[in-house]
Amino acid sequence: MTDDLVIIAGGGIGGLATALTLHQIGVPCIVLEAVREMRPLGVGINLQPNAVRELYDLGITQEDLNQVGLPAKEWALVGLNGNEIYSEPRGLLAGYNWPQYAVHRGQFHMLLHQRLVERIGRSAVRLGSRVTGYRKNPDGSVGVLIENADRSTSEVKGTLLIGADGIHSAIRAQMHPAQPPIHWGGAVMWRGTTWAKPIRTDASFVGLGTHRQRIVFYPISRPKPRTGLAMINWIAEVTLDNPGSWNQRGWFRQVSIDDFVHHFDNWVWNWLDVPALIRQADSVYENPMIDRDPVPTWQDGPVALLGDAAHAMYPTGSNGGSQAIVDARVLGAAMVEHGATRRSLAAYDDKLCRPISQLILRNRGAGPFGLLNIVDQRSGGTFDNIDEVISREERAEFMASYKAAAGFAIEKLNKAAPTIPNGARVAAERSAHSSTTAKP
Ligand SMILES: Cc1cc2nc3c(=O)[nH]c(=O)nc-3n(C[C@H](O)[C@H](O)[C@H](O)COP(=O)(O)OP(=O)(O)OC[C@H]3O[C@@H](n4cnc5c(N)ncnc54)[C@H](O)[C@@H]3O)c2cc1C
Repeated sequence: MTDDLVIIAGGGIGGLATALTLHQIGVPCIVLEAVREMRPLGVGINLQPNAVRELYDLGITQEDLNQVGLPAKEWALVGLNGNEIYSEPRGLLAGYNWPQYAVHRGQFHMLLHQRLVERIGRSAVRLGSRVTGYRKNPDGSVGVLIENADRSTSEVKGTLLIGADGIHSAIRAQMHPAQPPIHWGGAVMWRGTTWAKPIRTDASFVGLGTHRQRIVFYPISRPKPRTGLAMINWIAEVTLDNPGSWNQRGWFRQVSIDDFVHHFDNWVWNWLDVPALIRQADSVYENPMIDRDPVPTWQDGPVALLGDAAHAMYPTGSNGGSQAIVDARVLGAAMVEHGATRRSLAAYDDKLCRPISQLILRNRGAGPFGLLNIVDQRSGGTFDNIDEVISREERAEFMASYKAAAGFAIEKLNKAAPTIPNGARVAAERSAHSSTTAKP
């Protein structure tokens, strides 16, 4: 194995997007992934237009994405009788040059893996390789410590290490040994997919309830022509009054429906039957809504963090997966400018660490779902005419302030130059060891 390699710890969405990007710009890389087998795990996630733009630039096409999901049409909050509180178009319908996609996380992950294997070969991802830490070598290179599937240990030497090993990142734990434990605000989410009839359009995100108890759901497949049923991704969420009482057994585990469906027993209306939606799911996962306190930097010499390892955040803004893809592209752009060097890691860190850290803290609030709380307080969630509960101006003002903070800037994105210019490559002679202005 050549020590000119960039080593990527973690073959999730962020790690694979990074590998595809580095391959595109001519930087040799390898992904070390802990699991022994790549499997299509998870349920739905949203790919925002800024991430879809990057995927297109990576040669992941619209047809590819249509195989694993569908373009989202609208985002809507509704009352307990299904009447609209607020809605807005999404993706192309909102004026973006790129769609927003609602996809099956596992199938999308497999798509990235398949493209990587086609382009670099099967050896691009070394399965059964759990990264346990790193060593900064005196010659400027980095030694990556691995626990193999058979429990033996080994070390791989590389020019840079990208820690894309998710929310429980071993790389981050070494880089920031004093970081506080995972932050949990007391909310538990149960996620699943159920074949059911889509509500409103055939591609609407719908949210109802309150900030403390709600369900959101959206299709991640087109309706089947014969039955009209689509795969609906749903997330049922409850904030516990006494979080200490909750039996926390892991961070993302399959659970029995009977463990939690009682929270939604009364959520049956003529337009929506929440317990039935939940009960008909194939499998259900429980995960507490967790994130991590921001850290001041994502770089330690030849090592950088990316994706959830850098910025695990609440899913309030549906942007965790998208940000991991954008991270990969910003890192690639920095390498085009500075070579695959520590300077590129510093440029990437300078560009993203501070603003994304602010986003983590902002996502801890109710976000756009705060509007549901106002409606609940004023009407109990059921109303005939929303204007009598909260005026159009007040609704628009509430959402505008959230969107300004979350940076959903359509014109800015549409006008932005590609993150990585088409055909850009990293010059071969710009290796890590030649960097003169490296951070320690
Ligand atoms: C199994 C799974 C299911 C998920 N399901 C959903 C979902 O349904 N909805 C949703 O919104 N988000 C889900 N997520 C999270 C979502 O994918 C991420 O928030 C987001 O895509 C950012 O991606 P990431 O690559 O940074 O992290 P992840 O997608 O979490 O990927 C991290 C990768 O690193 C690997 N890894 C971890 N530790 C090590 C180590 N020490 N050495 C080597 N490899 C390591 C993991 O196996 C994983 O493949 C899921 C994540 C996982 C791992």
